Amino acid sequence: MLNGKVAVVTGASRGIGRQIAISMAKEGAVVIVNYNGSAAKAEDVVKEITEAGGQAEAVQCNVSDYSAAEAFLKDIISRYKRIDILVNNAGITRDNLLMKMSEEEFDAVIDTNLKGAFNCIKHVSRQMLKQKGGRIINISSVSGVMGNAGQANYCASKAGVIGLTKSVAREIGSRGITVNAIAPGFIDTEMTAVLPEDVKKAMGEQIPLKRFGTTEDVAQAAVFLASDRAAYITGQVLCVDGGMAM
Ligand code: NAP
Repeated sequence: MLNGKVAVVTGASRGIGRQIAISMAKEGAVVIVNYNGSAAKAEDVVKEITEAGGQAEAVQCNVSDYSAAEAFLKDIISRYKRIDILVNNAGITRDNLLMKMSEEEFDAVIDTNLKGAFNCIKHVSRQMLKQKGGRIINISSVSGVMGNAGQANYCASKAGVIGLTKSVAREIGSRGITVNAIAPGFIDTEMTAVLPEDVKKAMGEQIPLKRFGTTEDVAQAAVFLASDRAAYITGQVLCVDGGMAM
């Protein structure tokens, strides 16, 4: 489905990003596995892809840093000559109730989850405009759609990602570039592993499909949105959440 496409997946060393990178490579894409601190894990992802016959490269970049994101993407464009798919997946949580949330906790989450997506879109869109085509997929969250107590910073960042998605989709759609968001529900990764058991149980009860999602559930949606099969879909929020937000 993605033969010969060049795909950049941010935060692909672990969790959802890791699986998106592996699934896109399996469909024929050459994948740039971005990471911030987990170099060894990113190299493991590259190894898994290449051993299966695919092509990938791990590249470090803190996407919340505007200049670093610019240098990272300029380097990829100069070496690969194009970027067909950008998946803005890098994300963090710093959960706290609003009354206890510090300015640092708020800023860190906005800087990575929202500004990181802006930084990468900003430095990829000119190339996609030149190519007259491309796919941008932003990983939002069910929390950005519904809100969640204890996650004002995270929900604000993920709701912001939805606004960013729809605005950019309107701005660059005429050049054949689609921009969509995926809003995962509760997916089994290191991010959700830290939640207390009682919180996980309460969350599980809110899910009509009665299970947490897998990284594969999200990756398959990303592959579809990146493929030619999704050519007429833009500005949408695809909830991959077992029916939580409907
Ligand atoms: P995860 O297991 O904690 O992995 C996060 C990834 O983001 C890691 O690869 C990490 O790289 C990378 N990252 C963090 N800050 C970065 C930065 N400044 N620059 C570049 N990379 C950075 O998280 P996950 O559960 O897979 O979540 C992935 C995305 O899905 C996030 O945007 C998250 O908000 C969203 N999401 C997750 C769930 C869920 O239930 N898990 C639900 C809805 C939405 P390093 O290890 O190198 O730091």
